[in-house]
Amino acid sequence: MDAATFFGAQPFTVQSAPGRVNLLGEHTDYNDGFMLPVATPQSTTVSVALNNNPEFEIYSATLGSAVAFGQDDKAPEGFAQYIEGCIRLLQQRAIEIPPLRMHVTSNVPLGSGLSSSAALEVATLRAMRALLGFELDDRSLALIAQQSEIQYAGVNCGIMDQMASSLADSEHMLFLDARTLATRLLPIPADSELIVIDSGMPRTLAASAYNVRRAECEAAARELGVQALRDVAAVDDVERLAPPLRERARHVVSENLRVLEAAEGVDAARFGELMNASHASLRDDYEVSIPELDELCDLLRAANGVHGARLTGAGFGGAVVALCRTGAAAAAGAAVVERFNAGASGRSAALLLPITTDTRTQ
Ligand code: ADP
Ligand code: MG
Repeated sequence: MDAATFFGAQPFTVQSAPGRVNLLGEHTDYNDGFMLPVATPQSTTVSVALNNNPEFEIYSATLGSAVAFGQDDKAPEGFAQYIEGCIRLLQQRAIEIPPLRMHVTSNVPLGSGLSSSAALEVATLRAMRALLGFELDDRSLALIAQQSEIQYAGVNCGIMDQMASSLADSEHMLFLDARTLATRLLPIPADSELIVIDSGMPRTLAASAYNVRRAECEAAARELGVQALRDVAAVDDVERLAPPLRERARHVVSENLRVLEAAEGVDAARFGELMNASHASLRDDYEVSIPELDELCDLLRAANGVHGARLTGAGFGGAVVALCRTGAAAAAGAAVVERFNAGASGRSAALLLPITTDTRTQ
């Protein structure tokens, strides 16, 4: 059901927010570190209107699922919790949220590591802000979206996804400092475009491993006597830690340095090298890759016109991203997907729309 059918004759307010693909700076956000996400051309759209019934009525056209809950009730478990969190957190700031009807639709793939969850939260908050007219800047909106995911959807996430969805665009990389929340829009290296491949591998281990890695990073920071691993200046400083904290810390410290170098402005070839080094660090030191993600990155690096490739998102499945020469991304991606899927039965990797110069300017 589309939004026009859902709302009938009633006028409604429409707002969208993008997903994100992180080019560099993985598992750094909860270490107060640095990252470089780009907004995807794909986005989530939330349409909203006042409800005559004393309930929040929400329909996701993506899932074909309708949910309703009252002002004093909890939302049922599932996608509505991301939205309920946004509503409740605004109410806690003394912003009056009357009963609403909401329609959600999206072309961000769900659960592929492109952050459809942040896109849903940010689009929901934007739609309510546009309808109800309360004052909330884009940074505050991202922080509320993050808290909604942590407190209401039960996902202990960092701040990157929501900041990217709220502040990034598809024409730039968003340099983000997770400690200060300072941001800068930087140009994507000249003469290059991006390709994203969803590995199709289930992310079954992702949530538990994520929590273990966070705890390891906190332990490493404690042992090094710093507030967060962001405060470790040089890779050698982690050498006195015992494994596996040494390796975990080495990833975070070296990854922050890679982001800082890339943010200074490097050409596409160097940026590709930094992506390759990031993947090796995530694979060997942080141990969040799986053989299928390694294989996809190897295939991408061997393809014509690819500068570099890495897993993107938390790992254990999800997507990989590559930086390619302008005009080379679509063909490289299609060839890699075909070879990868032919490599073993049951594989279902898929090319997600390349972020090309064309899609960037849409
Ligand atoms: P990712 O953010 O990487 O796509 P997550 O597991 O964090 O993966 O978030 C996916 C969840 O977000 C879905 O299972 C669903 O609950 C919710 N979600 C995201 N987009 C939508 C949508 N368009 N409609 C309904 N639920 C959505
Ligand atoms: Mg998510």
